[in-house]
Amino acid sequence: MYKLIFASHNDNKTKEISAIFNGLIAIKSLKEIGFLEEIIESGNTLEENAALKANAVYKATQLDCFADDTGLLVSALNGKPGVHTARFAGPDKNPQLNNQKLLEVMQNQSDRSASFVTIIQLIFSGSSYLFKGELKGTIATKPMGEEGFGYDPIFIPLNANRTLAQMTLDEKNSLSHRSIAFKSMLQFLKEKLN
Ligand code: IMP
Repeated sequence: MYKLIFASHNDNKTKEISAIFNGLIAIKSLKEIGFLEEIIESGNTLEENAALKANAVYKATQLDCFADDTGLLVSALNGKPGVHTARFAGPDKNPQLNNQKLLEVMQNQSDRSASFVTIIQLIFSGSSYLFKGELKGTIATKPMGEEGFGYDPIFIPLNANRTLAQMTLDEKNSLSHRSIAFKSMLQFLKEKLN
């Protein structure tokens, strides 16, 4: 089976993406290939961070690999927190504090529109390819639901009346930014590998 290295130290994401690839492509995590270095995400855009991670792994291994980066872009905050989404409330990357801070800064905002964006950089046979997935929605006025992670309790997708945290994983995966981006990479790879 075709093997692809996932330039991430996050085991949960490796599992989630392996499920999307459904046995068609074998995903290897950095841990599995013995790449233990931390890759500093110092880019100014999601694209730059995805490229930093994928390029670092390609340079070290010369193997086909990919990296992803996701941000929450809030219209009333001019696209913030964007690349700083994980650390919005501080370096601990604490999701409850991130949600609390966002609800606070959005308190008197009538425009609550926002979107999640996932960017993937794939390095395939030495060339780079970008894939994007976007989920539009609004920021809720209070946290609702227990499922998912990160900002899920305060993000209501467009045309839904619940937050992502009030959906099952299957429901979330049928519409999420991450699954849109990964399905488009999977389509690309299926065509290349045929
Ligand atoms: P990453 O680039 O996938 O690590 O995502 C950066 C940050 O965005 C995470 O730490 C989360 O706070 C947030 N995030 C990414 N994807 C999601 C999601 O699907 N739901 C809620 N929050 C997310």
